[in-house]
Order: sequence, then structure tokens, then C-alpha cells
Amino acid sequence: MKNILVIGGAGYIGSHTVKMLAQKGYNPVVFDNLSKGHREAVANYPFELGDLGDKARLAEVFKKHQIDAVMHFAAFIEVGESVKEPSKYYHNNVAKVLNLLDAMVEHGIKYFVFSSTAATFGEPVKEKIDETHPQNPINPYGNTKLMVEKMLADFDTAYGLKATALRYFNASGADDSGDIGESHTPETHLIPIVLQAAAGKRPCIKMFGNDYPTPDGTCIRDYVHVNDLARAHILALEKMFKDNVSERFNLGSGNGFSVAELVKEAKRITGVDFKVEVAPRRAGDPAVLVADSAKAQKVLGWKPEYNLTRIIETAWNWEQHRKF
Ligand code: UDP
Repeated sequence: MKNILVIGGAGYIGSHTVKMLAQKGYNPVVFDNLSKGHREAVANYPFELGDLGDKARLAEVFKKHQIDAVMHFAAFIEVGESVKEPSKYYHNNVAKVLNLLDAMVEHGIKYFVFSSTAATFGEPVKEKIDETHPQNPINPYGNTKLMVEKMLADFDTAYGLKATALRYFNASGADDSGDIGESHTPETHLIPIVLQAAAGKRPCIKMFGNDYPTPDGTCIRDYVHVNDLARAHILALEKMFKDNVSERFNLGSGNGFSVAELVKEAKRITGVDFKVEVAPRRAGDPAVLVADSAKAQKVLGWKPEYNLTRIIETAWNWEQHRKF
């Protein structure tokens, strides 16, 4: 049974991956400083409180649990905030990950799955973004993730550390059980905000810009279910264990939906005609981000199982019954 250290495992995507790792016969160990994560999200799994910046603590946990591979979910993720407070992002998303990679090399841990992002690509130069698309981030968040991708390539060459970078498009939805789901404070992501408006927890939603060069003027994104992402992590891990190679994959559904389309679908599913206001554009937002995930399909056999309707339905179920 392989022991997988899941850093940031008490967070949104981390907690769904922890659950799936356990279901698939792995032994996940959660490492989280609980600055954003929720202990309740991983109540049934081994848990180590700690910070990535703390090498001694990492060493202790590596040894105690005889860790075979590490997954990293512990990044700050808000594009708008990264524009206003880049220093915070470079420290957490780059410096601390370097610390982690050094500790892994020191302890001979050879496998790493890294949560990267569509934001590493910047403004698309073609309709769908595949792995050959140029990477020119337009915000500090994207810069931090691209920097780590570059570090990973160098660490493989020099130290043989094998890493798979998974560039998520818009992670969304919740586990079908309704036991875990998205819970950020403050919440900045579109789907939870829309559903909080539907639940009467917010007076309205603000649509950030309706003058983008898209058919209805609102931004287009590729929403991919959190459990589909979790499954991709496990497939990526298995591929590394089997072939001992570093890889990178873009993970999305390949379908783009505008903010206005998503709002319409959420109104249909919830049956609530919540209020929508048009607000100025948010800094750092590209007009369109849609994945071409053919490589993940071909190499990993990965295909998203949830469509936008299921994504919103599972997120709505979570929003109505959430415990944290
Ligand atoms: N968005 C919006 N209102 C909100 C939150 C988000 O109009 O209250 C828009 C945002 O500008 C972007 C899309 O919804 O075009 C998705 O944003 P989100 O923050 O969910 O994910 P991101 O694409 O930044 O990863």
C-alpha cells in the first residue's frame, strides 16, 4: 500500500483527492496548516498539522509515514488578490514549494503531482489550449505556477525527481455524497457565489465585465468537476510509478461556457431568479480559457465524467447542506 502525502489535503481539491485515493487503495496522509483548509473535510484520514515552509516538520512527517509520493494543493489561488499582493503569492506558491522539493530530494522521495493552472497560458493564441500552447501568464498567480513548472523540469534533470504538472481549468462542483465541497473564505469563485445568491445568502451576483470579445460579452471558462480532477491525479501518479517519467497535462472538459450562460443554467437548476448586476472587469482575467485535453485522454485514459449541469447540481446540493 503506497503512502501519499497530500499537502493542502484539507482544502477543496485536496480533500476530494484524499477521499478518492483512499477509495482506490492508497494510504493518503494529509499535511495542512489549516490556514484555508477544513479539518472536517478530512476527518477520517491521518492528519499532520504543519507548514510547507518548515523543513524539519516535513522531514518528520516523511519519515513517520514512509511517504512514497507527494501531491501539492497548498497554493493561494485568487487571481485578483495575486495582482494586489504578489509578494504573498511568490512566498507561498514558489518559495515554499522550493523548500518542499529540496526536502523531497534530501529524503529520496521521487514522485510529485503538482496542481498547476490554465493561468500559466495567459491569453490564448488558439481556440483550445493544449500542452504545446505558449505559456505567457498575465497575472502573478499564473507566474507563480509557471515558475514551479520550470523548477520541476530542472529538478528532474538534476536530481531525477519525477513530477506531473496538472493544469486545471475551472475546478468546480462537489462530491456526490454532499459531505465535502468548495468552501473558501472569502469566496471568489463564480459557481459558489452564484449558488449562494440562489440560496439567499447574497443579495446578488456581480458579472465582472460584459464587454469582452466573446459572443455575449462575458468571459468564457471551461468548468471541470473536482472528482474528475481527483481521478486525474491518481492516473498521473500511477503513470509515474509505472513509467518513471515527468509529464504535464491540461485538464478541462473542452467546452467553454460564458458567465451569462452559467448564470442561466444555475437559475434553471435552482429555480431561483436571483439578481445579477454588471460590474467592471476584474484585473487579470483572460476573455476565454478552454482546454484541449486530448493528451490526458490519450496518455492517461482520462475523460471528464461530469458535465456543467452535474457540476452545478452537485455544487447546489453541497451549498444547501454544507457543514463547513
Ligand atoms: N466572475 C464573475 N463574478 C464573480 C466571480 C467570478 O463574473 O463574482 C467571473 C470571472 O471574472 C471569470 C469567471 O467568472 O471570468 C470565472 O471566475 P472564477 O474566479 O470562478 O475562476 P477563474 O477563471 O478566475 O479561475
